Amino acid sequence: QLIFLNGEFVPKHEAKVSVYDHGYLYGDGVFEGIRVYSGNVFRLKEHLVRLFESAKSILLEIPYTLEELTELVAETIRKNQLSDGYIRLVVSRGTGNLGLDPASCPVATVVIIAEQLALFPAEFYETGIPIITVATRRNRPDVLSPQVKSLNYLNNILVKIEAKLAGVLEALMLNEQGYVAEGSGDNVFLVKGNKLITPPSSAGALEGITRNAIMEIGKKFGYDVREELFTRHDVYVADEVFLTGTAAEVIAVTKVDGRTIGDGKPGAHTNRLLEEFRKLVVEDGEK
Ligand code: PLP
Repeated sequence: QLIFLNGEFVPKHEAKVSVYDHGYLYGDGVFEGIRVYSGNVFRLKEHLVRLFESAKSILLEIPYTLEELTELVAETIRKNQLSDGYIRLVVSRGTGNLGLDPASCPVATVVIIAEQLALFPAEFYETGIPIITVATRRNRPDVLSPQVKSLNYLNNILVKIEAKLAGVLEALMLNEQGYVAEGSGDNVFLVKGNKLITPPSSAGALEGITRNAIMEIGKKFGYDVREELFTRHDVYVADEVFLTGTAAEVIAVTKVDGRTIGDGKPGAHTNRLLEEFRKLVVEDGEK
């Protein structure tokens, strides 16, 4: 496996970053997780635009243009002969001294990893997953926007830890007002009648690329697609609940905090949206 690291392709075991990199010292950087389906990168442009916007927001200069990064991602895929997999693109502040000031880091560190995706076991798509809500809150948008996909994922990691301690795989984070924001690394949707509802970005939800695709599909198939605030109660009484994300795609939630959703099985709407999403990832590649 070859990793792109600062302008070179190096074998996996040689792909090393300095302990003085501010990405390591302070979580100072941004990243993207991207899928490759049958050799096509799903919505690469959207991922790169989000990466550049995240970087701009934290005054991090990426030493490549969007076009150059597009080519580098393609080259990383080619070099690893990957047709279906996952790409992790990381840009950290770079190597500096122990101070916080990014001025000591003259160049950003850029890493592109392309590898096989460790998918959720297929049975989870058949059975759905139970989840909980946890105490960890989404960071406030006025402090650090949830749109910045930064290397500071402590809240998200705590959500994951709390979920696992409770014996489930995923959990929902609320925002400071107590409205539902999102999962540790996934967006959340409710189906209620003909409504397909997901929290607005102002609630603390990342504008996920899978989320966008599901909203498009939902509109196309006549759902009343809404970005609306909702509470845990709304989740408990929804007809269907599912999570979306680059790695998870669309995964049904069958229990939330012990409340069974619908009849406790992945619902017909969720299954249909997953099916349409899987068609879209192929069609997008053919364009
Ligand atoms: N929310 C968070 C916090 C994430 O890290 C991710 C993953 O990127 C998502 C949601 C889902 O976004 P996407 O569909 O772009 O992968």
